[in-house]
Amino acid sequence: MTRELVVLGTASAVPTRHRNHNGYLLLWDGHGFLFDPGEGTQRQMTMAGVSAHDVTWICVTHFHGDHCLGVPGVVQRIARDKVSHAVQAAYPASGETYWRRLRHAAAFADTSAITPRPASGDVVQWPAGPVTLTARPLSHPVESYGYRVDEPDGRRMLPDELAARGIAGPMIGELQREGSVTLDDGSVVSLADCSVPRPGQSAAFVMDTRLCDGVYALADGVDLLVIESTFLSEEEALAAEYGHLTAAQAGQVARACGVRRLVLTHFSERYSFADEPRFVEEAAKAFGGEIVTARDLTRVPVPRRRP
Ligand SMILES: [Zn+2]
Ligand SMILES: [Zn+2]
Repeated sequence: MTRELVVLGTASAVPTRHRNHNGYLLLWDGHGFLFDPGEGTQRQMTMAGVSAHDVTWICVTHFHGDHCLGVPGVVQRIARDKVSHAVQAAYPASGETYWRRLRHAAAFADTSAITPRPASGDVVQWPAGPVTLTARPLSHPVESYGYRVDEPDGRRMLPDELAARGIAGPMIGELQREGSVTLDDGSVVSLADCSVPRPGQSAAFVMDTRLCDGVYALADGVDLLVIESTFLSEEEALAAEYGHLTAAQAGQVARACGVRRLVLTHFSERYSFADEPRFVEEAAKAFGGEIVTARDLTRVPVPRRRP
């Protein structure tokens, strides 16, 4: 079971020599959530060792070019590679015109793999394989939605407790399904006797926004938070004007929400790799957990399950 973020691109509006436009593929138990495919995403996927077959959802936060100009290449590649599984595409419903243009930007032999899932309102949820995908509105000059994935809470079976009661084989499945089993001697064993709660894992993707309620709702308690930090605090006024976050604000969100691993990305082209320690330093003023400054073609695992 793989649960990791494949970073395809980390630049904001203007790609640089070292940073491609945005692009992130969250691999989760055989499913793949492709967030914000910017220009060049198709090639970045090749460089990162992932393929069109790995994509089960395309999630676009908003229709600024750095978050969606890679859609035509990706959808045409899905068709060209004859991806046979269903691919859903989530995006702000208000951007339907842009979606249709990107979806049909050039001539190609289309397939019926992709189903549009336009998002509107304060919260939208879709079942997405092993997780629930949730979209919530953010605050940006054009309508923007952030996303999160949540694995349902479950229970972890305790082998010693099962063995002590002589429960083995198909009886374990029955115990999990029914919540209890009756033994040969007539005694009843409940699921709670042989298992402990197993909290589900979660990840959130928060792009292009000012601080707003949606940011906090999306990031609440997640194991992995991928969040834009376009600017450092010295440009806080600019960030507010253009609807972006600073690294310090990203750190404040991570602390307030009890995040475990914080991934900063969507960097303004004014910064170079040499500035990365400043982003970490600013975020770390509020947040004591692990901070990663995303780089293209790297992988960031979802942290191990909480004990
Ligand atoms: Zn952007
Ligand atoms: Zn934007």
